[in-house]
Amino acid sequence: MEKLKIAIQKSGRLFDKSIELLKDSGIRLQNGSGKLLSVAEDFPLDILFLRDDDIPEYISDGVADAGIVGENVVIEKGYNLNLMERLGFAKCRLSIAIPKNNDYPGTDFLNGKKIATSYPNILRKYLEDKGISAEVHEISGSVEIAPGIGLADAILDIVSTGSTLVSNGLKEVDVAIYSEAVLVANNNLELRKKILLEKLLFRFRAVQKSRNNKYILLNAPNDRLPDIVKVIPGMKSPTIMPLAENGWSSVHSVLSENQFWDVIDQLKELGAQGILVIPIEKMII
Ligand code: ATP
Ligand code: MG
Repeated sequence: MEKLKIAIQKSGRLFDKSIELLKDSGIRLQNGSGKLLSVAEDFPLDILFLRDDDIPEYISDGVADAGIVGENVVIEKGYNLNLMERLGFAKCRLSIAIPKNNDYPGTDFLNGKKIATSYPNILRKYLEDKGISAEVHEISGSVEIAPGIGLADAILDIVSTGSTLVSNGLKEVDVAIYSEAVLVANNNLELRKKILLEKLLFRFRAVQKSRNNKYILLNAPNDRLPDIVKVIPGMKSPTIMPLAENGWSSVHSVLSENQFWDVIDQLKELGAQGILVIPIEKMII
């Protein structure tokens, strides 16, 4: 039977979350990691463990059908891949940083300067878009030390909290791209593999939705129910059940994480009591 081949990072910042997403999607791996290839137990799927830099090329060549990798790497490598889904983890940005004591009047600062990066293609595109002429100096790692040792005047590097920049005496002055882990696929998958990938994507989405939503239960006086229902509309509409105590009901609904604290405050003001919030394991809409 036809199997789908998915490439994920062998070890590094994407590894744990990629495995967790597969696991939460009901996919168990037979022989663990540490190998080049692992077989899924309950889905026609093989997992290839690779360096993240190699994943786009392997997908483009058809060695893997799809993969989980940082969007930054996908853009840098430039292969024509199908971006199926943003996965909401490994969020970071590729930013220009300069020594913290330098003034930064704007992108013109970079004219004629030497900029170190592991992302030469993204940097060249950035400079072209801004109409800046600068020297691109490609290095494969520890980009953040380049200005300190006199190798470059500025860098383009991955930033998430910015603490690495600060500890190297640098300041972030502009963002070239934002990135997160993405599911990308080969553009020419045969139909059977396409169907399998859609099935996997359906599971990924159900997992992601459930992570972004909570199940909420609360008690409220009946006369407040119309207002409370407006605040927590739920997937279709909330469930309302009478309590044993006269004049009170229990309300059950689903609440998105982003609006969580706002809604809780409103519910309290509207007289809700005994509010319980429970994680959802899967959400199929
Ligand atoms: P490999 O050995 O596979 O080549 P690597 O050292 O190139 O790994 P990692 O440091 O594991 O890569 O980062 C993998 C991806 O995680 C990056 O391409 C980026 O998308 C994301 N990432 C990197 N640094 C951060 C960070 N500080 N915060 C969040 N995400 C990050
Ligand atoms: Mg890498």
